[in-house]
Amino acid sequence: MRDPKRGWFVYRWKAQRDQTDGFIQTQRRKVLNRLKQRLDYEESHEFYRCGTPTCATRTFEDAMENFFKCPVCGKSLNRLDNEELKGALRWKINQLQEELK
Ligand SMILES: [Zn+2]
Repeated sequence: MRDPKRGWFVYRWKAQRDQTDGFIQTQRRKVLNRLKQRLDYEESHEFYRCGTPTCATRTFEDAMENFFKCPVCGKSLNRLDNEELKGALRWKINQLQEELK
């Protein structure tokens, strides 16, 4: 014999769980897109820094316009190594793609 109350409880619980899964998947997809855009940006740009913590990171174009000298503090701008960041982005993108399969 079926217990309708129990059946309803199971249904509600399942529906709620599906909803939560859907929400998480949507969030994951959004995060994944943002990470891909960021990786694209990192891969297509070179970045330069003067080393002063309060000064901004500059793109190659920006650094060139300033003759590779920081317009704020006057120190020379050096190429920033973003390999580590790109590696971390790729790793996270792979992980999210695996989870979305
Ligand atoms: Zn500076």
